Amino acid sequence: MIEPKDFIRAQVAADLASGKHTKAITRFPPEPNGYLHIGHAKSICLNFGIAVESEGECNLRFDDTNPEKESQEYIDAIRRDVQWLGFDWAGPVRYASDYFDVLHDYAVELIKMGKAYVDSQSAEEMRANRGSLSEPGKNSPFRDRSVEENLELFAKMRRGEFPDGSCVLRARIDMASGNINLRDPAIYRIKHLHHHQSGDKWCIYPMYDYTHPISDALEFITHSLCTLEFEDHRPFYDWVLDTLAHVLPQPGSVVDVWGKVGAAAGENTVLPHPQQIEFSRLNVNYTVTSKRKLKQLVDEDLVSGWDDPRMPTVSGMRRRGYTPEALRDFCSRVGVTKSEGVVDVGMLEFCVREHLENTAPRAMGVLRPLKVVLTNFPEGEVKEIRAARHPNLPEMGERVIPFTRELYIDRADFEEVPPKGYKRLIPGGEVRLRNAYIIKCEDVIKDAEGRVTELRCSCDLDTFGKNPEDRKVKGVVHWVSASHGLPCEVRLYDRLFTDAAPDRGDVDFKTFINPKALEIVQAVVEPSLAAAQPEERFQFEREGYFCCDLADSRPGKPVFNLTVGLRDSWKPGA
Ligand code: ATP
Ligand code: MG
Repeated sequence: MIEPKDFIRAQVAADLASGKHTKAITRFPPEPNGYLHIGHAKSICLNFGIAVESEGECNLRFDDTNPEKESQEYIDAIRRDVQWLGFDWAGPVRYASDYFDVLHDYAVELIKMGKAYVDSQSAEEMRANRGSLSEPGKNSPFRDRSVEENLELFAKMRRGEFPDGSCVLRARIDMASGNINLRDPAIYRIKHLHHHQSGDKWCIYPMYDYTHPISDALEFITHSLCTLEFEDHRPFYDWVLDTLAHVLPQPGSVVDVWGKVGAAAGENTVLPHPQQIEFSRLNVNYTVTSKRKLKQLVDEDLVSGWDDPRMPTVSGMRRRGYTPEALRDFCSRVGVTKSEGVVDVGMLEFCVREHLENTAPRAMGVLRPLKVVLTNFPEGEVKEIRAARHPNLPEMGERVIPFTRELYIDRADFEEVPPKGYKRLIPGGEVRLRNAYIIKCEDVIKDAEGRVTELRCSCDLDTFGKNPEDRKVKGVVHWVSASHGLPCEVRLYDRLFTDAAPDRGDVDFKTFINPKALEIVQAVVEPSLAAAQPEERFQFEREGYFCCDLADSRPGKPVFNLTVGLRDSWKPGA
């Protein structure tokens, strides 16, 4: 039984309990005009989540009524992202374009019913006659064309006898309606365009608001979930289904009155009048969640692509090292409501960190190497240190870390003039090398510019796995063998925008791009990481979580992306 943890799940649970539906059938209907982003993840988790929790079904349906902006690349990426998030659609991947024939037949039916007409006004005339929120619209001079004339004109539209924009098919409802969406909305327009699925078969394409309710009905969707901006479109959604009820597939049948739909329809156990329910969009601070804007970043080369690890796209977050579990956890914490709000991106980062804490093996990586020579450690000697891959998960096993005379530590772990409370290495001071010995800085070597190039240290060989009795050494730093370590590229990522609301509108969102959102460093990591596989994630001790890059890593030559740092101020409930 589905837990009614939000108002939509409560509705689904009630409809199943009352017997209105025997099974919940939802759908996720992306338009293939860009990659999916974190906002879509919320919709995916909701639609597929309800199906999983209620033993129902969720369809993946591409809403492909606008071929101009759509492409196969986007279709492939969306399929990949939905699966990566951990979900599977019921039956085949569906396309609104699968229904172009029936959508056309239903439009003809509307014409025959006197419920649709071909309008030959210009776009400006149509706009001017639509009216406004305070003023009713005006009827088109073409509104009272006869059924025969409309059938003839629509057939000509379909045959390609009219240029783009010369006329549209409109529903005939009410130009004086208080709801502008009911003022004779367009249902078909002319576009002489090749379509990625239907090829050159059509030069007229149905509008989204007409296509969506019919596609839902043909698939016997029970709950059609969408974001709040569609609330005002719901009366038209219902108008389409009510007006065409007599031709749509009926209970007990998967074909419409003409015996046509068949294969596209799902299991017909319900009335073909899905209920549209709206919920609030997910907005995340320091982030933009608009495909149009994300596309601008890609097109203007401000990022490396849709899957750039700085992007809030599902593929970007994946490449960055975020896990599907973390994204699902985030969506579940965000919840589903009708109130608009902005979620702190820190919460997303918290979910990622929390999941990786318990799943990512530990390793040592020095991001900004500073050489350390242990003057009393024999040249050529290699001490093989065994260390747990995870402090709490012994089943992850151990790795071997070679310890040698020459090592690297991070530049940030040495200060000549230490600030107050500094616990790392200073001239004459001591520090413990993680998993190894205590060392003391005896000498600081500099180049001609005064830049520190090397530290000469002594190593207390009596401190392996134990503390000295005569003194306390507080600091611990990570390190990598200079002779055995693996040099590799590490990409340090930060938030893509410097402003909490880059999308607020008064200033171009691109002015807030964080120039420091990507820093590339030549790091040295422990040699066990030569075996890292693309997408494998690690905690580099004391630094953060890192993911072996999906695209640019080569066997034995990993590239690492900073997924998220170790600490942040965000806490649950904050
Ligand atoms: P964008 O505004 O980024 O272009 P869209 O709504 O046009 O997004 P669609 O491909 O139409 O993109 O969206 C597919 C589904 O995902 C729709 O049901 C839509 O309501 C939902 N969706 C899109 N953005 C969000 C968001 N920020 N939060 C929750 N759901 C979203
Ligand atoms: Mg859309």
